[in-house]
Amino acid sequence: MENLIAAFTSLTGSAPVGVWSAPGRVNLIGEHTDYNDGFCMPFALPHRVLVAAAPRTDRTWRVQSLNNGEVVTFSGEDLVPGMSGWQAYVAGVVWALGEAGHAVDGADLVLTSDVPMGAGLSSSAALECAVLTVLADLNELDIAGIDRAKLARRCENEFVGAPTGLMDQAASTLCTEGHALFFDCRSFETRQVPFDPAEAGLELLVVDTNTPHTHVDGEYAERRRSCDQAAATLGVPALRDITSDGLADALARLDDPIIQRRVRHVVTEDERVLDAVRRLEAGDVAGLAPLLDASHASMRDDFEITVPTVDLAVETARRAGAIGARMTGGGFGGCIIALVPRGEADRVADAVAAAFAEAGHAAPDRFIAAPSAGAGRIA
Ligand code: ADP
Ligand code: MG
Repeated sequence: MENLIAAFTSLTGSAPVGVWSAPGRVNLIGEHTDYNDGFCMPFALPHRVLVAAAPRTDRTWRVQSLNNGEVVTFSGEDLVPGMSGWQAYVAGVVWALGEAGHAVDGADLVLTSDVPMGAGLSSSAALECAVLTVLADLNELDIAGIDRAKLARRCENEFVGAPTGLMDQAASTLCTEGHALFFDCRSFETRQVPFDPAEAGLELLVVDTNTPHTHVDGEYAERRRSCDQAAATLGVPALRDITSDGLADALARLDDPIIQRRVRHVVTEDERVLDAVRRLEAGDVAGLAPLLDASHASMRDDFEITVPTVDLAVETARRAGAIGARMTGGGFGGCIIALVPRGEADRVADAVAAAFAEAGHAAPDRFIAAPSAGAGRIA
């Protein structure tokens, strides 16, 4: 924070009027359910983007990222979708606000982030949501939380050009400390679900496998197509409309074994999210563990989106004492989460690192994630 304010002062010659932040996120459970109109449950990381800012009067935005040292400047005419580079995540927020009819003045922004980039922890949504919060405050815009998330998503989808669901921006905007966020991807209904691993004598360990992502876009498109095709065959708007009671019936009406497995993942994963909500609301954090395990098995065997490094990390974490573990995120690499007894996170992560070294994989990263607050002003 001191470095950030010093950097702002050295760039602009005066102090910022405030500092705002927004977090990255990890999805606790509910994978590949979003485009099936289903359920997921992310929580906000302690890792966040911090932005020091002050208004300008010339409809120009000057932005510095301390992560790459670059300073970029853009004005109203530059706000054209498809802009390249990291500044698109900032300019696109100004653009999305304008498209929604909000008048936004220029600003100086200096930002820094400790959300790992490209690890599936949503550094991009953290950046968008932090900038959105700054601009909403500086311009005294009254925008509801879910609408802020939609504007940030519009930046990512239409201005940056990355097709993503609403979960990341909803998590970064709406999460609260000590809670996970139940999110209905059809109605956009949200609910704060108490989630405090520490109070239950547990820790939530995140291990980044540092696996290079390959074939992700093609595989993702194939999974989406399979799900859409299955919903059409079954005559429902989306796979969300198949409940676990109707699963056996639905599977009997599909003859391709691959499509059957895809459907079984989505339907059982939705059910696991609802089950996780019930258990957490009953104060049973340890009750999540078997759901994490089952979610991983379903992603590995039915949706087929895990890779050997991810499976090795999950299996090793379980053997080393994690009570439950799963891959988190879209798959083909990325992070795993493991629920471990308090004080055991380092030991479990060391075991995963040793297994990776032995198998000749690059060293994984790790951290403990306490469910943290969403976007807001912090100074
Ligand atoms: P993820 O959201 O999983 O971290 P993305 O590819 O969606 O991965 O977003 C990462 C991109 O977001 C980076 O390549 C960069 O363009 C931008 N970005 C995120 N945080 C920052 C930052 N602090 N400074 C500059 N660019 C950032
Ligand atoms: Mg992203």
